[in-house]
Amino acid sequence: MMAASISLQQLKEQLVQQGGEKIKMPVLFIGHGSPMNAIEDNEYTRGWKNVANQLTKPKAVLCISAHWLTKGTMVTAMPQPRTIHDFGGFPQKLFDVEYKAAGSPDFAKKTSQLITKTEVISYMEWGLDHGTWSVLLPMYPKADIPVFQLSIDYTKPPSYHYELAKELKQLREEGVLIVSSGNIVHNLGMLRFDNKVYDWTEEFNEKMMQYIASRNHNAIVNYDKLGKAANYAVPTNEHFLPLIYSIALTDEKDPIEIFNNSYQMGSISMASVKFG
Ligand code: ZN
Repeated sequence: MMAASISLQQLKEQLVQQGGEKIKMPVLFIGHGSPMNAIEDNEYTRGWKNVANQLTKPKAVLCISAHWLTKGTMVTAMPQPRTIHDFGGFPQKLFDVEYKAAGSPDFAKKTSQLITKTEVISYMEWGLDHGTWSVLLPMYPKADIPVFQLSIDYTKPPSYHYELAKELKQLREEGVLIVSSGNIVHNLGMLRFDNKVYDWTEEFNEKMMQYIASRNHNAIVNYDKLGKAANYAVPTNEHFLPLIYSIALTDEKDPIEIFNNSYQMGSISMASVKFG
């Protein structure tokens, strides 16, 4: 009779722990917005939590954050990554946050091996930047899942990132939750306190939502073809590139769920997507 009370979710987790069945983890794109989301209870953090609660507990989280840009590609490989407070002008309580998840040297090594497009450098000096911990703290407050990061090579074009990300698909089968953290529209120079949404914010974001839903990866990779709206929505592309990693990691059969699809301060899209 005990078996009757076990949920399907728990059963799946047991099977994964016993190595009896492989569950393919979804891929998440998270619109992270302000670092303050880390410690706020709002519609966005509730959306992130809600998604985390639906998932099988991952063996590790690989985060591709808009806030780790490097020349070349790097992976964090330390057993205990530090919490990096890479922002200024926020309250002390945000600087006091420590996200004490372990690292994952093993999955970091596996990640380096899977990528053939370039040599991946194991880097011990980074840690978890706020693009990572500001979303993982609401999602996994216990910090009991190992976390590692892959950097974004800022010298490469979007198509390069798309091809590189494809090489990491196997990690999904191995229980790794890949979280790309950025924002589809991100123009800090145009923020407005009346929260009125610019036409170009809406135009660009809505186009991307259509392309995501119709799996039009080519149009997403070539987002700059959208002209003026793209120039304003993506003045620099570090917050957009994580979306390209997410779509590249998906398969045709992955269900697509868009959530948190609204705007902050006129020029930030908080839209987030669960694939799979
Ligand atoms: Zn950011």
